[in-house]
Amino acid sequence: MAGFLLSLSSSFLRPLNPQKPSKPAFSHKPHKVLTITCNSQSKPTKTQRPTSKNRKRSPYGTSRRSILKKTLTQEQVRFTSSVSDDPHVGIIGGGMAGLLCALSLEKRGVRSTVFDTGMHGLGGRMGTRVIDPQQLVFDHAAQFFTVSDSKFAKLVDGWLEKGLIQQWKGVVGVLEMGGQFTQLPSSLPRFIGVDGMRPLADSLISQTSLVDVVRPCWISKLEPFNGMWHLSENGKPRGQFDVIVIAHNGKCANRLLASSGLPLVARQMKRLELSSIWALLAAFEDPLPLRDGAVTFEGAFVKGFDSVSWMANNTMKLLGSRSNGAHCWTFFSTAAYGKRNKVPQENIPTATAEKVKASMLQGVEAALGLSKGSLPKPVYTRVQLWGAALPTNTPGIPCIFDPHGRAGICGDWLLGSNLESAALSGMALADHIADYLQTGVASPDNFAVGLEKEFQPISGHDIGQFPGLESSPQHTLILEKGYQLVT
Ligand SMILES: Cc1cc2nc3c(=O)[nH]c(=O)nc-3n(C[C@H](O)[C@H](O)[C@H](O)COP(=O)(O)OP(=O)(O)OC[C@H]3O[C@@H](n4cnc5c(N)ncnc54)[C@H](O)[C@@H]3O)c2cc1C
Repeated sequence: MAGFLLSLSSSFLRPLNPQKPSKPAFSHKPHKVLTITCNSQSKPTKTQRPTSKNRKRSPYGTSRRSILKKTLTQEQVRFTSSVSDDPHVGIIGGGMAGLLCALSLEKRGVRSTVFDTGMHGLGGRMGTRVIDPQQLVFDHAAQFFTVSDSKFAKLVDGWLEKGLIQQWKGVVGVLEMGGQFTQLPSSLPRFIGVDGMRPLADSLISQTSLVDVVRPCWISKLEPFNGMWHLSENGKPRGQFDVIVIAHNGKCANRLLASSGLPLVARQMKRLELSSIWALLAAFEDPLPLRDGAVTFEGAFVKGFDSVSWMANNTMKLLGSRSNGAHCWTFFSTAAYGKRNKVPQENIPTATAEKVKASMLQGVEAALGLSKGSLPKPVYTRVQLWGAALPTNTPGIPCIFDPHGRAGICGDWLLGSNLESAALSGMALADHIADYLQTGVASPDNFAVGLEKEFQPISGHDIGQFPGLESSPQHTLILEKGYQLVT
């Protein structure tokens, strides 16, 4: 694998001195400073957590405007106490980034608790849906990943050895109008979870000793109190932590950060822009018909259609010849189609779901070069909107850390839009936090990272970047510029 690798990883992050952005995204007044004083003797107890009596009531509502106002006017928290002897990190989000952050903290001897909303498992956008009793299986977000970084490659080798992942050897290519298929070179390995992406996420964390997982749990409030971060879920206390990690993004993270006392972190999060993608999961009794003489493929980036950008036969991908049931296909729309047909993802109107399903199936039919009405009727369908699907801009830095507020961010969007970026970001933040806990508490300014970093657009496919699969020079450029490495 080494031949494919960019040399980004073996080095370590140098804290960035915040630079003034040339063109600020927001104009705002200097932040007032709220100092929370606490010495290490006065460790908070359960009874010292914020209560309705000692908590200041929010003067703001929760509309988008008020969140923005809150984000920009909130006071900066400055922890001045030393951290506990056995520090504990609270990680909000159990996708690839949050999980890798927890695992990497463990390697450095630091305890953590991962909170995740997942009802069926961890993984976030590593989603796998199993439909019983037919046993239909769909990866309904991340489909596969490639490896371009040596640190990630080492990790991936370990997953291969443990049997958590396998190479996807099926034919993958580009499908253009009328069924014209061009196979992508198979020289670069493509990887998938052996039973799908979500089981991979769950098994990553299964043999840990310093990582706790709390799920399903939706952290709704972060409060600095008595030298610790107190996390709660709709008023229910979920623990207190020396350092917190925000390992999710989008609207939810913006709300959470809007009144947290972390204006610089909140501002960076608000700069992030995300695409929307429709997913159609469809099972067909038989293999999909192809044009005469066309290559049978398992995955294809679809070009030239609005309603379809990717299609993959998940049954062939995950089960291969072991399968004797229906063929489960995952279809994704383009981001442009997702944007135009956006609705609240938790509450998709039936008419919209029907319209989207019809236009995506039409797109599939046309892409395969089939005559109108000849695509077989699926025996199972389900549409889903990924309202916050993939980042479209990035600060191009592995992580963000506010040492005064003892809070960091990790996630795919800090480096790009794929699982590799998410993993690298989680690992980088963990190392940074471990160093901070070891040496940086007394000189926090040296540990500020990415708080003022400008964002650049991200290139790639509608469903992310696959470095090496085809040339993506812009991505490489962003990574090279974004990292500041100590050699
Ligand atoms: C349609 C689609 C297709 C994709 N295809 C590919 C692909 O083929 N290859 C590839 O490499 N990448 C692909 N990606 C991108 C890839 O899935 C992401 O880059 C990666 O999974 C991001 O990981 P993350 O940990 O940064 O975030 P996430 O996976 O989003 O994890 C964040 C987690 O935090 C949880 N959370 C949010 N708020 C809270 C809260 N308040 N309290 C507790 N938990 C919370 C969320 O539920 C989620 O589980 C695709 C993405 C989409 C949407």
